[in-house]
Formats: sequence, structure tokens, C-alpha cells
Amino acid sequence: MLDTRRYVIIGNGIAGTGCAETLRKLDPTCQITLLAEEPYPLYNRVSLPPFLKLQAPESKVLMRTRERHEQNRIDLRLETRVTHVCVAERTVVTHTGKEWPYDALLVATGGRPNRLPVPGGDLHGVYNFQTLDDSKAINQRILEARTAVTTGGSYIAYELTEAFRARGLQTTWVMRGPRFLRRTLDAEGGRIVDAIAADHGVRVIHGEEIAEVYGKDGVITHVETTGGRVLEADMLGVGLGLTLNTRFLAGTGVELRGGVVTDEKLRTTVPGIYAAGDVAIFYDTFIDGHSQMGTWDNSSSQGRLVARNMAGADETYVEVPTYTTTMFHSKLRVVGITSEVSPEVEDLVKSDYDARTYTRLFFLHDRLVGAVAIGELRNRKELLTLIKTKERLATLAERRALLDAC
Ligand SMILES: Cc1cc2nc3c(=O)[nH]c(=O)nc-3n(C[C@H](O)[C@H](O)[C@H](O)COP(=O)(O)OP(=O)(O)OC[C@H]3O[C@@H](n4cnc5c(N)ncnc54)[C@H](O)[C@@H]3O)c2cc1C
Repeated sequence: MLDTRRYVIIGNGIAGTGCAETLRKLDPTCQITLLAEEPYPLYNRVSLPPFLKLQAPESKVLMRTRERHEQNRIDLRLETRVTHVCVAERTVVTHTGKEWPYDALLVATGGRPNRLPVPGGDLHGVYNFQTLDDSKAINQRILEARTAVTTGGSYIAYELTEAFRARGLQTTWVMRGPRFLRRTLDAEGGRIVDAIAADHGVRVIHGEEIAEVYGKDGVITHVETTGGRVLEADMLGVGLGLTLNTRFLAGTGVELRGGVVTDEKLRTTVPGIYAAGDVAIFYDTFIDGHSQMGTWDNSSSQGRLVARNMAGADETYVEVPTYTTTMFHSKLRVVGITSEVSPEVEDLVKSDYDARTYTRLFFLHDRLVGAVAIGELRNRKELLTLIKTKERLATLAERRALLDAC
């Protein structure tokens, strides 16, 4: 029993669950404890927008059962929140005061959505969109709603906008910036997204925020924007980014910079403690700097790799991030490093407003590092290979030919 290794994992998203299952494959005798604040075993957050659009039932969203974890001898503790970590004693403490000793610890706690910080922001009918429980509450409210407002300029606000519209609500999308994904798309890309939204009956308002939410008997009725517009709203969807869950690490010596800082092997600054998934600010060898990726594939790959390193391997995380989502009837794809992550990249763009298509390639030091596309992205595999192999495209003609082939 003495040399049975004890692994504790905080967070049972795809990073934490993937880590637990990989550890079990690597070491049939180790002890694995998975501490999880939510009441469900792993579910697919990427399936939550289809769940809102009634395209995926709850059974398809859920990915694991308690029984499967039991069979794998993974000790899953649901509705268990970690409150602090004691580095000197190598223990994790939960909200009930129970202590869990570890030999190696993974932090895979993701983030929690920022609330709408205005008067009335807590009225019934105002929703964030991060969890299965959020989604169930939104679904319930949609049944009695006719009008909806969404706020935010990134993926979550978009997903809510599309879902509300798909469910037949009269929908207005309010964003502070000049366009959706304002650091990844340029002005023309933003114009095309607006056109696609308008094609689907969504009204888009730029350069304004929600100033106040009004209601009756505790339930939202309308909102007022900073531009003085009054918008009727039976519900309001909020997509204003995440705050990464790191509070329980205060005072441990683990370096925190918004999230948990790691090296390229996902080790934190404290021996024996690792981080993976959305919460990790990891050293990215592609950009030779720290980076954070809020994507499913990244969290999944990091969860498996970190397990191998926790069990004694010495692997470097090298992965080209990819994000694919719907864009109403079309598709949005983001690959690799964009101007969002690395403002010094150079770009080449082609677009067709009438066809609602757009492709933008990003280059750093003569290398292709990323791409964003609305509509088809031809040669996606070739682009990924070029990014991975760091092949030089020294002339403008070579880069233009690449763009033309997309
Ligand atoms: C609606 C929605 C749509 C998305 N769509 C896409 C998409 O199309 N493509 C894509 O690539 N990505 C998408 N994402 C992002 C993707 O889902 C995330 O990047 C990924 O799920 C992160 O996984 P994770 O394991 O790092 O963290 P999470 O899945 O966030 O899991 C972390 C878990 O840790 C728990 N936790 C936090 N603090 C504690 C604590 N103190 N104690 C115990 N437990 C704790 C949390 O409750 C949570 O369950 C979407 C996300 C959302 C919300």
C-alpha cells in the first residue's frame, strides 16, 4: 500500500476526466480521486448549444456515468468544492473540511462566467451560459418567452443569439465592440457576420452595452442600453467572458496570472502540482510565450498529456488549437494563432460579401501560424500541416497562392 501513488484531480471537465482515465490506463493500482463542484459526471459543453436548439437531448450531452467511473476505480466526488490546498502537507481541502492527501495534483477547474454587473443583472430571466444547469434553466424560460436580448462580442453571446433565434424568439444582439470577435476578424469579417445574423432575422447593435435591466415582480421585462435604447426582453443572455477558477490556490506559491501558470509540460511553479485545460496559462512553444486556450480539443489533449507527465513522463505540449462552430447556416473555423493571441501577426484576407464567405490567414516571421474562416475552409489539413511543420513561406506570392487555394 505504501508505494500506491495518490492522484487528486480538481475539476471533472474534459481535462480532469481525461486525465483520470489516462492515469488509470497507465497505472492499474494507483488511487485516483476526482473532486467536482457540479452535480454531473462529465458532459459535453460543446453540445450545450445544440441542447438549447433542441437538436441534442440530455442523454447525448452526458458523456460519463458514475458506474463507469466506479468500474475504472476513479473515486468521483460530485458537489464537492475544493476550498484550499496545503502545499506543506500535500493535501487538498474541500468545503466540508475533508482532506485529501496527494502525491501529484491536477488543477483542471476551468472558469466561471462573468455576471452582468449592472442594476437588475440578477433578475429572473438573465442567464449566463456555461453549465448544463444554466442550459436547463434557459430552456425552461424560452418556453414562456417571446423576445430576447443577448450581450457580448464572443462565442458564448453568439451561441445564445443563434439558439434564441432558432427557438423563434425575436432576438437583438448587443455588443460593446465594433464587431464579433473584434481581435480575430477585421472590419469586413465583422460586416459578413452582421449580414449573416440579419439574414436570420437578428438585429445587431454595436458600440453599446446593457446599462440596466428592468423587471416586474422580480422577472425581466426590458433592458436599456448605454446608447439610451429600450429593448423589450423576456430573457437576456450574457456572454461576457470567464474568470478562471484559481481562488483556492491563494497562498500556495503556485504562480497565478489570471489562470494557473505552467511550463510547456503543464507543471506549475510548485512541485507535484499541474494544471490543464481552460484554467492553464501554459507555455506555448509555437509562440514562445504563455497562452490560454478556451477550446474543447485543447483541454482534452492537455488532460491526457498531463496524466502521462504526472505518472513520470516528460512530454512537451505541442498542439495546434482548433475551434469550429456554427455561424447560423454557415460555419466558423479558427485554427492556430490569430491576432487575438498574438497582435504582431501579419495577415492576408479574401472575402465575398454576397456569398457570406471570408478567409484570413495569419503569418509570423514568414510562417503560417493560424487562420479564421467563415464558410468553407478548403485545404484545412494542409494548413494544419504547414503550421505544425513551421515551413517558411518567404515570398508574398507564396502566401497569396496559399490563400487562393483556401
Ligand atoms: C456553451 C459552450 C459552448 C462551447 N462551444 C465550444 C466549441 O464549439 N468548440 C470548442 O472547442 N470549445 C467550446 N467551448 C469551450 C469548451 O467547452 C471548454 O474549453 C472546455 O469544456 C474546458 O474544459 P476544462 O476541463 O478545462 O474545464 P471545464 O469544462 O470548465 O471543467 C471544470 C470543472 O471544474 C469545476 N470546478 C471549478 N472550481 C472547482 C473547485 N474549487 N472544486 C471542485 N470543482 C471545481 C467546475 O465546476 C467545472 O465542472 C464551449 C463552452 C461552452 C460553455
